[in-house]
Amino acid sequence: MKFGGSSVGTVERMKHVAQRIVDKKQQGHQCVVVVSAMGDTTDELIDLSRQLNERPPAREMDMLLTTGEQVSVALLSMAIHALGHEAVSYTGWQVGMMTDGTHGKARIKDIKAHKIREALAKGNIVIVAGFQGMTEDQEITTLGRGGSDTTAVALAAAIGADLCEIYTDVDGVYSTDPRIVRKARKLNEISYDEMLELAFLGAAVLHPRAVEYAKHYKVRLVVRSSFTNHEGTLVKEEAVMEQGAAVRGIAYDKNVAKISILGAEDRPGVLAKVFTALAEEKIDVDVIVQSGVKDGRADFSFTVSGADLEKAVEVVKGLKGEFDFEDVRSESGLVKVSIVGAGMVSTPGVAAKMFDTIYRQGVSIQMVSTSEIKVSCIVSGENLTEIILALHSAFGLDASTEAFVGGPKERR
Ligand code: ADP
Ligand code: ASP
Ligand code: MG
Repeated sequence: MKFGGSSVGTVERMKHVAQRIVDKKQQGHQCVVVVSAMGDTTDELIDLSRQLNERPPAREMDMLLTTGEQVSVALLSMAIHALGHEAVSYTGWQVGMMTDGTHGKARIKDIKAHKIREALAKGNIVIVAGFQGMTEDQEITTLGRGGSDTTAVALAAAIGADLCEIYTDVDGVYSTDPRIVRKARKLNEISYDEMLELAFLGAAVLHPRAVEYAKHYKVRLVVRSSFTNHEGTLVKEEAVMEQGAAVRGIAYDKNVAKISILGAEDRPGVLAKVFTALAEEKIDVDVIVQSGVKDGRADFSFTVSGADLEKAVEVVKGLKGEFDFEDVRSESGLVKVSIVGAGMVSTPGVAAKMFDTIYRQGVSIQMVSTSEIKVSCIVSGENLTEIILALHSAFGLDASTEAFVGGPKERR
């Protein structure tokens, strides 16, 4: 069972979660629980660090941010003890959550889960801090924002759990963010592949790497609300699609930046140079567009996450000695809007309908990328809500009732 930040955001909610876990135990289950930092703690810690240093060292950032989850596990364990049940809390490093050394977005390499098994065997409810791990050199790492989902799924795989339940502040996975489209449709099931795309394309409800793990290790994964008893969404190998529907969901990513290299000399290996240099700095490049060549020179543009923009521009400018170009430009505040659905390949005209819908909002599309199960458009950020609402109804996704959302929340 994994509980997100808003599910444990107050003392009252913490008590409620403790009761839910105890109920589960009393139904005869062994429970391993993963918790996030309370409420907006992680954001607050980031703000605090920025007041002291605009570009805090990544190692120290991980040291700071992991404290949030450590508070939650201890308090939740105390709340369970108060209900008369045995519980024991652990940090990520105590339960052998071994990662590589990429601070801020570390990858799990191995989990030495014997400590969890021993504690379970003694009848404990085991509570593990989400989002954190440790390198072989005993350096503390974090898995990236939203990474507690990944802790939960990876642990579920490591201990061979029957089920991994992600408890959050909405009733499950919806056709799009129910905070933007109140008539978003709750999905009873979704395939790993579609969920993976939605998560990678910005649907915050699950961390992309969590879905990757679930698919790879065939973890039964359910997303449900910690505030209601409604059935959630089952993420599984293959999910049924309504007759004739091509699009399962719509995702958005508000944090997109574009870099354009103008007048680059056109010779083999230039693109490779740029993207190798960016990869060495662990910067993920997303959509790439190269325009036609003129007088032996070409322009190309690519997108990176807003957080990586400054560094990416620095890296590109640093390549001046290796190949010639006229200028480097950048633009932040863009969004990527994507439609996802396994039925897309067999339904003609889906992309055309998307372009037309966006065009009718008076918005021009800057870049496009497609795969078998998705189409993404990069547009300027101003009309995001209108675009999503329009796409949601154009693809017939509107539900007849309003979605459940557990209280207000600022989206990061
Ligand atoms: P937690 O703290 O529980 O991990 P998150 O904020 O990370 O919660 O994820 C839940 C949020 O994801 C919801 O409040 C919702 O606004 C957002 N969200 C975005 N896309 C979707 C979607 N397709 N279905 C459900 N929720 C979504
Ligand atoms: N507390 C971390 C965050 O806010 C991890 C998580 O909640 O999953 O990103
Ligand atoms: Mg989350």
